[in-house]
Amino acid sequence: MYDLIIIGGGPAGITAATIAINQRLETLIIAERWGGQTTYTMQLEEMEGRETITGEALLDAFRRQLDYLDFARRFDTVTKVMPEEEHFVVETARGDCFEGRALIIATGAKPQRLNVPGEASLAGRGLSYSAATHASLFLGKDVAVVGNGRRAQWAAASLARKAHQVYLLAPEPLVTTPLASRLRQMENVEVAEGVMVKEIHGENFVEGIVVAMPDGQEREILVKGVFVKLARTPNSDLVREWVDCDSRGHIIVDVYCATSWPGVFAAGDVTLVSEQVLVHIGEGAKAALSAYHYLLMH
Ligand SMILES: Cc1cc2nc3c(=O)[nH]c(=O)nc-3n(C[C@H](O)[C@H](O)[C@H](O)COP(=O)(O)OP(=O)(O)OC[C@H]3O[C@@H](n4cnc5c(N)ncnc54)[C@H](O)[C@@H]3O)c2cc1C
Repeated sequence: MYDLIIIGGGPAGITAATIAINQRLETLIIAERWGGQTTYTMQLEEMEGRETITGEALLDAFRRQLDYLDFARRFDTVTKVMPEEEHFVVETARGDCFEGRALIIATGAKPQRLNVPGEASLAGRGLSYSAATHASLFLGKDVAVVGNGRRAQWAAASLARKAHQVYLLAPEPLVTTPLASRLRQMENVEVAEGVMVKEIHGENFVEGIVVAMPDGQEREILVKGVFVKLARTPNSDLVREWVDCDSRGHIIVDVYCATSWPGVFAAGDVTLVSEQVLVHIGEGAKAALSAYHYLLMH
């Protein structure tokens, strides 16, 4: 029986495992693979090689610690998690079965990509998936944000404070939020709804985005940056039936990363907390300490 089983090997899971092991908890981390989602060190024409993802270096150090501790990690897919009396049973695709007194769910979310020409080759060269990380690099420039939900609106509002002009290109009407009406009134934000992205172009760096407007006309918008902020799906299926989630499947947590089920904690993109490596390093650490406190009391 483990004290703590952590599911997920992204920033939240890796940090949680390191903290738990440092507290001498009998810990097992199970992940399909290390590292979770991709992060990019953004390069722009005028600032080749500028380092922006400070969380990555920290995460690497944590990951290296876990690489030595092979008894504490498994590369496998968790297929089932069941609550039992005072403990949890975790089953994997390879047929293993583990028991733990507490759980941290750090399984991340599935991002939605544009899947258009230019997306893969220009990622990190003006194309970003993280406004929180990269918006400040686009001071005084023209940029586009693709998406219609809360995250896209937040990115557009944040960029409007820094960029010269922001084009919010929404595939569907903007989700109704207080920010949506503010965005429509901002002088340097153009909101276009019902548009479809066809291509992102640029030789070495993003130079423009081609979209089909609602009337079918093609329009080319010259921008130096494109932020893709489409909806993502939290990987919460393992616990969704017995742990409280919101309507989109994010696991609901309190400020201690505790879920509605005693002994189950969650951290990272699987919750509603803002998506950034640096933030999720902190969330993972918090979840591990909360699980430790829970174990001390039970
Ligand atoms: C394309 C892209 C670019 C990004 N760029 C940046 C950036 O530049 N800067 C930045 O700060 N943030 C960036 N982000 C956001 C950042 O990557 C995420 O916020 C962060 O990785 C989330 O961490 P996490 O630990 O919650 O989950 P993830 O990193 O998604 O990791 C989830 C982990 O869970 C594992 N897992 C899932 N299901 C199971 C299962 N059933 N069994 C076993 N293991 C499972 C996966 O294998 C993985 O190890 C980007 C995101 C994307 C998609």
